Amino acid sequence: MEKKQFQAESKRLLEMMINSIYSQKEIFLRELISNSSDAIDKIYYRALTDDTLTFNKEGYYIKVTADKESRTLKISDTGIGMTKEELENNLGIIAKSGSLAFKTENESKDGHDIIGQFGVGFYSAFMVADTVTVLTKPIGSEEAYLWKSDGADGYTIETAEKDSVGTEIVLTIKENTEDESYDEYLDEFRLKSIIKKYSDFIRYPIKMDSTESKLKEGSEDEYEEIFGEQIVNSMVPIWRKNKAELTNEDYENFYAEKRYGFDKPLKHVHISVDGAVRYNAILFIPEQTPYDYYSKEFEKGLELYSNGVLIMEKCSDLLPDYFSFVKGMVDSEDLSLNISREMLQHDRQLKLIAKNIKNKIKSQLQSMLKEDREKYEKFYASFGRQLKYGVYSDFGANKEDLQDLLMFHSSKEKKLVRLADYVSRMPEDQKYIYYASGENHERIEKLPQAELVADKGYEILYFTDEVDEFAIRMLMSYKEKEFKSISSGDLGIEDAESEKEAQTEDAENKELFGRMKELLAGKVKDVRVSKRLKSHPVCLTADGEISIEMEKILKAMPD
Ligand code: ADP
Ligand code: MG
Repeated sequence: MEKKQFQAESKRLLEMMINSIYSQKEIFLRELISNSSDAIDKIYYRALTDDTLTFNKEGYYIKVTADKESRTLKISDTGIGMTKEELENNLGIIAKSGSLAFKTENESKDGHDIIGQFGVGFYSAFMVADTVTVLTKPIGSEEAYLWKSDGADGYTIETAEKDSVGTEIVLTIKENTEDESYDEYLDEFRLKSIIKKYSDFIRYPIKMDSTESKLKEGSEDEYEEIFGEQIVNSMVPIWRKNKAELTNEDYENFYAEKRYGFDKPLKHVHISVDGAVRYNAILFIPEQTPYDYYSKEFEKGLELYSNGVLIMEKCSDLLPDYFSFVKGMVDSEDLSLNISREMLQHDRQLKLIAKNIKNKIKSQLQSMLKEDREKYEKFYASFGRQLKYGVYSDFGANKEDLQDLLMFHSSKEKKLVRLADYVSRMPEDQKYIYYASGENHERIEKLPQAELVADKGYEILYFTDEVDEFAIRMLMSYKEKEFKSISSGDLGIEDAESEKEAQTEDAENKELFGRMKELLAGKVKDVRVSKRLKSHPVCLTADGEISIEMEKILKAMPD
C-alpha cells in the first residue's frame, strides 16, 4: 500500500474549500447524492449505445445509512463505479471532474442531465467528516478498490472486495465542538429533511432505513415500531410531468407540500420554455397576503433549481418587486453556476428567464381580470397595494406594465373599476379623469366639490389608500386623459359666465374677504367666491399640485 501526496497547491485548495466555498455544511449531502445520481446516469447513457448493457430502472438507487454508534454516514449507489485510474484522477486531483469529461465526450448524445462539472463537490464531505472512505467497483471489472483519506494529508488506495458494481462512501462524522454540532448529520429526521430540501427531484430513488411508529393492528392506543426501507425523494418533479396529465389538485398539493403558503393559490402557471434558455417553471398567485408581506422582513424570490437540484431557496432576481407575491420555482439546465453551486456566475440567462416570467405573470393577471373578475378582486384585495407601489417606484418605469391591472372605487358604479372602464364611459365634454382622496367612501362623498363633479354627470375615482394618489401622479395620464383631483383649484368644469359672475362678486366683497384673509392668516392663501358649491356654504381648495389629502400624508411622513 503506497501513500501518495496531494500536490502543495491542492492541499491549500482543499483547506480553503472546506472552509469557505459553501455557506452551509449540510450541502455535502447534496453533493454526494448528486455524484451518485451522475454515476447511475452514466450507466444509463452508456446503455443507450452499448448493446451488452441493459438499463432497467428498477435496479438503480442511492441509499443513505446513518449509524450513531460508529458515527458513520454511508452513501451508497448502484452507479458506474470507478476504476483505480479514475479514483486517482477524479478524487485525487481537486477540480478534476470525471463527469464534465463524460459530458464533453458525449456531447452529441444527451448527457445534459448530469449534474457534476467542477470537480470539487466530493471534498465538501470533509466539512463534516474526519475520514472519508470510498469503496468502489467499476462496471465490467471483477476488482474493487478502497480509497481512504483524512483530508489535507493525502489518500491511500488498495484493492478490496465488493459484491456488486457501484460505490459506497463512508464518512466518519466529526465530534461536536464547542460551537458546532455534527450529531445532526447522524439523525434520521434531519438527514431526511436535507434530502427533501436539496435532492427531492433526483431521478433515482434515495432510500433510507427508517423507524416508524404505527398503531398496532386491532389496537386503538398501542403503537409498534416498524423498521423498513423508505424512499425519501419524490423523484419526478411535477414540472417535468406532462401538463395534460396534471390536475388542479396536483398543483395545489405541490403548493402545500412546498409550504409556499397555507392558503390555496388563486392561480398557477406552468411554463416550459425550449428557446434561448431552456427552463421549466411553476408559478403561483396566492390568495392571501402573508402576515409579513407589507413589512421589511418579507423576502421575495423563487426557488431556483439546476437540473432538479436546489441551488437557491429564494432567488430574488427572478421577480420584480411589484410581483413579489408570486411563489414557485424555476428549473434550468442552462445556468452558469459558480463553483459552490449556490450562486450564479453570469446573470444573462437569469435575466432572460426573469423577463419572460414577468411577462407571463402580467398576462395571467390580465386574463384573470378579464375572465374571472371575482377572483381578480380577491387577488386585488390582497396585493393591489403592491401593484400601486410598483407604479410609483422606479420613477414610474413600470407603469406601462401595471396601469391596466389597477382598479379604483367608482362613484358611479359603487365598486372597483379599471381605468379603461372609466375612460370608455367618459362623456364627450369631460376633459379629465377625476379622483378624490379621503379616509373612506362616506367622507369623500360628503366633500363639497364632489357634488359639482357628480352633478355634471362625471364619474369620480375614490382614493382611500395612501399610495393611490402617489401612483396616479406617477401615471399622470391614462389614454391621454390627465388625472385631476376634485380638490384642485381649476376643475376644468367652470363655464365662462359663472367665472365672470364670481369675479364681479369678488370685487364687490373685496373688503369682507380682505378681513377674512387677515383673520385666517397663515391658514389660507386666498378667499374667493365659488360657483361650484351647491348645498355647502364653503369649501377648501388646494393651491398647488398637491391635494389636501396628499399634503396630510406628506406631513405625517418621517423626514
Ligand atoms: P463533480 O461532480 O463536479 O465532477 P466531484 O468532486 O463531486 O465533482 O466529483 C469528482 C468526480 O469523481 C466526478 O466527476 C466523478 O467522476 C467521480 N465520482 C464522485 N463520486 C462518484 C460516485 N459515487 N460514483 C462514481 N464516480 C464518482
Ligand atoms: Mg459532484
